Formats: sequence, C-alpha cells, structure tokens
Amino acid sequence: MALRIDGTAMAGVLSQSVAEDVKTYLGQTGVRPTLAVVLMGDDPASEVYVRRKLAACVAVGIASQQHRLPAECLEPDLIALIDALNADPSVHGILVQLPLPAGLNASVVLDRIDAAKDVDGFHPVNVGRLSVGTKGLVPCTPLGCMMLLDSVIDDYKGLHAVVIGKSNIVGKPVALLLLERECTVVVTHIFTKSLADLIRSADIVVAAAGSPRLVRGDWIKPGAVVIDVGINRVTAEGGGTRLVGDCAGDELGHAHAYTPVPGGVGPMTVGCLMSNTMRAARSQLRAL
Ligand code: NAD
Repeated sequence: MALRIDGTAMAGVLSQSVAEDVKTYLGQTGVRPTLAVVLMGDDPASEVYVRRKLAACVAVGIASQQHRLPAECLEPDLIALIDALNADPSVHGILVQLPLPAGLNASVVLDRIDAAKDVDGFHPVNVGRLSVGTKGLVPCTPLGCMMLLDSVIDDYKGLHAVVIGKSNIVGKPVALLLLERECTVVVTHIFTKSLADLIRSADIVVAAAGSPRLVRGDWIKPGAVVIDVGINRVTAEGGGTRLVGDCAGDELGHAHAYTPVPGGVGPMTVGCLMSNTMRAARSQLRAL
C-alpha cells in the first residue's frame, strides 16, 4: 500500500516553524516581516489564492498589505507601484498575483521586483542562482515539492526523475532542484514522445502538466515516489465539479508514496511563501 504524503499536515508543521521564527525575529529586531500582495483585475481564482495567502500571513504572524489595481490599469501604473514597494524598507516580500490581465507583460513586471524581495522566486537573478546552485529565493511550489520528497527520500543520488511540464513556475525549477540533489533528470512537455515509457523507468515522478489524470497507474514503476502538482477542475459524477490532479491517484497503490490532490502540494506552496518571506526579511536586515 502506497504511503499518502499528507501535504496539509506537513504544511501545518512548516507554518508552525515559520510562526516561531517570526516571533523570535520580532523579539530580536523589533521588525515584523511584511508581505505586499499585488492583485490586478478581478479574476475569481486569483481572488481565492490571494485570500489564502493573506490568511496564511495572519496565521504565522507576518504582516500583509494588499494592493489592488483595476484590470484597465496600464503597465506603468503597476511598475510605479512595484518601484514604491521596492523602495519601502518596511516591505520585505512582494508578490504579484498571476496571471496578469491581457496586454500586460508578466516578465517585464516580475523583473522589476527587487530580487531580494522576490518571494515567488521568479526574478532572473533568483532563477540564475537556482541554476548555479547558490542560495536565492526558490519558487514556492518547487520548494514545497522538494520538502514533500524529502519526507520519503533520504538519498537522491543517481535516482531517475521525470518531470512532466517545463514551465518557469514549476517544471524547470523542480528539475534544477532534483539535479542539485544528483538525480538524473528528464524534463518532458507536450511534444515529448513516449511519455509513458520515460515515466516507467522513473524513481521520482513530478507531474505538473495541468492535464487531468494524465499519468496512469501502469506508467508508474513499483516503489516510485509520485508528486502530483496538477490542479484540475473536472465535472463530478453527481453534478458539480471536483479537483483532480495530473495523476490517477486511485491507481498508485504500488508506488512507494504519492501526494494526493487536494491536500498534497497545494498547502505546501503557501507554507513556502511564508518561509520565503521570513528568509527575505532576514537577509534584508543582514544586508543593511
Ligand atoms: P503551464 O501550463 O505553464 O505548463 C504546463 C506544462 O506541461 C507545459 O510545459 C506543457 O508542455 C506540459 N504539458 C501539458 N500537457 C502535457 C502532456 N499531455 N504531456 C506532457 N506535458 C504536458 O502550467 P504550470 O503553471 O506549470 O502548472 C501545471 C499544473 O500545476 C496546473 O494544473 C496548475 O494548476 C498546477 N499548479 C499547482 C500549484 C500548487 O500549488 N499545487 C502551483 C502551480 C501550478
């Protein structure tokens, strides 16, 4: 029987540890770590994600600011806000909720965030640090994936890992983190041929394709560890909708361990955002 890795429980432990760090840091420095969240437009999914992130701040004692801009705002307005947040010493982390409304160039906007405050880890400086293996701010979802993997794998050296998806947000950074642990990594994408065969030899599978139940149980090697990043809303049998991952979770009994959807990677992502904000606050104080 495969071990179901409980991301909700692990995220609770992570949040507890961040809350203790925040308390200690506040006691030692008088500074409360602060996260500024920028939300542009009124995308309902983004509203939900932002609410969750703000609630997580409250839970760990991080102060938060919410900056809302209407969808019609122009890029210079958003850039001006980011410049102001970059210059504000009381703000330690800046997160611009994606996706941005049509017509705005996300990479121009994300590149403008001070790399030291880039708690999402998307700035080219942090991406560069990740690729050369030095310590920067690592994107939250990949960081969460590694913590989930660390809970069931002691020694990564030489393990075969297949990452499904090559996005800048998940696939590529996860691949770099696995490479850093000395895995042999194959990164796959929509044009990859023989995906099932590649996965059949994998000791670790990280699925981040956004394709419901793409990975079937018979693709998974017995004893493999499966991290399911996908979040897909599908029609439920009795009507309504439900969330499923990129893997057929009910077919993974022969795996060593797997993450469920929901309750796997998702909660860890928010926990890692909190720990990145704490790290950012600490390193900014050191840089003074
Ligand atoms: P994306 O659309 O930017 O990238 C998807 C990648 O998967 C692409 O590289 C694409 O080529 C590849 N792909 C798509 N279909 C494929 C297929 N059939 N075979 C092989 N490769 C395929 O998506 P993303 O932002 O990386 O997100 C991926 C999934 O992870 C989505 O379901 C998203 O909702 C979820 N997600 C979850 C969290 C979380 O916290 N749990 C965070 C970010 C993303």
